[in-house]
Amino acid sequence: MTQLNKQWKLKARPIGEPSADTWDYVEAEIPSPADGQILVKVQYVSLDPAMRGWLNDAKSYIEPVQIGDVMRAGTVGQVIQSKHDAFAVGDFVVGHNGVQQYALSDGKGMHKVDPKLAPLSYYLGVLGMPGMTGYFGLLKSGEPKSGETVVISGAAGAVGGLVGQIAKIKGCTVVGIAGGKEKCQFLIDELGFDAAIDYKNENVRKALKQTCPKGVDVFFDNVGGDILDDVLTRINFKARIVICGAISQYNNTRPVKGPSNYLSLLVNRARMEGIVVFDNAKEYPVAMQEIGGWIKSGQMKAKEHIVEGIETFPDTLMMLFKGQNFGKLILKVGE
Ligand code: NAP
Repeated sequence: MTQLNKQWKLKARPIGEPSADTWDYVEAEIPSPADGQILVKVQYVSLDPAMRGWLNDAKSYIEPVQIGDVMRAGTVGQVIQSKHDAFAVGDFVVGHNGVQQYALSDGKGMHKVDPKLAPLSYYLGVLGMPGMTGYFGLLKSGEPKSGETVVISGAAGAVGGLVGQIAKIKGCTVVGIAGGKEKCQFLIDELGFDAAIDYKNENVRKALKQTCPKGVDVFFDNVGGDILDDVLTRINFKARIVICGAISQYNNTRPVKGPSNYLSLLVNRARMEGIVVFDNAKEYPVAMQEIGGWIKSGQMKAKEHIVEGIETFPDTLMMLFKGQNFGKLILKVGE
């Protein structure tokens, strides 16, 4: 039987949550590389909240995915054919190869990775885009100092879990906000957070008062909405608020809910700053080396949530927005 390339393409731009109507499942012929191209057999596809934003026909830090295109996604896989001088058959590469099992590439944006140094899936998580986001977002924008209090929303996720662990390494008191008892317990027992707030079952404002008696110096926000407003009531003089994401708002059919407590920035001479991971691309090797060292020494843990089967893509993607992923969400699409 001829092997086919299973792909997910964008069929229609969703209003609100993506649904079955958003996607086209296609089985196409596996292409052959032309001169200057490689054929990559994809093993893992990264599922990221940002993918929801890429479906909107709106100005952003990156072009929207076009209707009819294979859905954009970070991937890791192996070069199985090469007509490119810089890549050999057998090389492992990360890059945006999309939600498909085989991808042609001209090598632009492809980076070789070594599966002997770390499991391949780590290059989509702690050693990949979420890892770089947490590392640079916290250290460059959050500027945590030993003894300060750092609060993180979306704390049990790919970015949040890493941010909290780095803040602990830097000598901070760390409080995570996450959904559900199990995730909160994990933050304290496994990742070494000082406290955790279960926003689904606790009053966040009250819990912040209890867990951050000295106020909040750094807030790393992955969630936005009400949680951002709640934390704004507890910030200290010269606090830094890192706007990494606002997942609570991504599927809104109404305008994004902005923070009504923003004048707390004025009162506290505090700053709120947005970050985009790609701005630090030149420095990724520095971060990868340091994070790799922390993992090796046992100072940092990388939790992954791997789902098998490219067919499951639409449902698996939605796990991010339902809080059903526990760690970096990855789709395994090939061996
Ligand atoms: P993740 O945290 O692993 O997964 C998403 C998590 O968000 C879910 O597990 C869920 O956790 C939480 N969530 C979903 N809906 C929510 C809601 N309505 N209210 C509160 N929490 C909700 O995802 P990630 O990859 O690490 O990304 C985290 C954030 O970073 C996202 O906002 C993403 O867009 C952003 N990001 C930004 C950049 C950048 O360059 N700026 C780069 C990468 C990621 P609970 O079970 O705890 O609710």
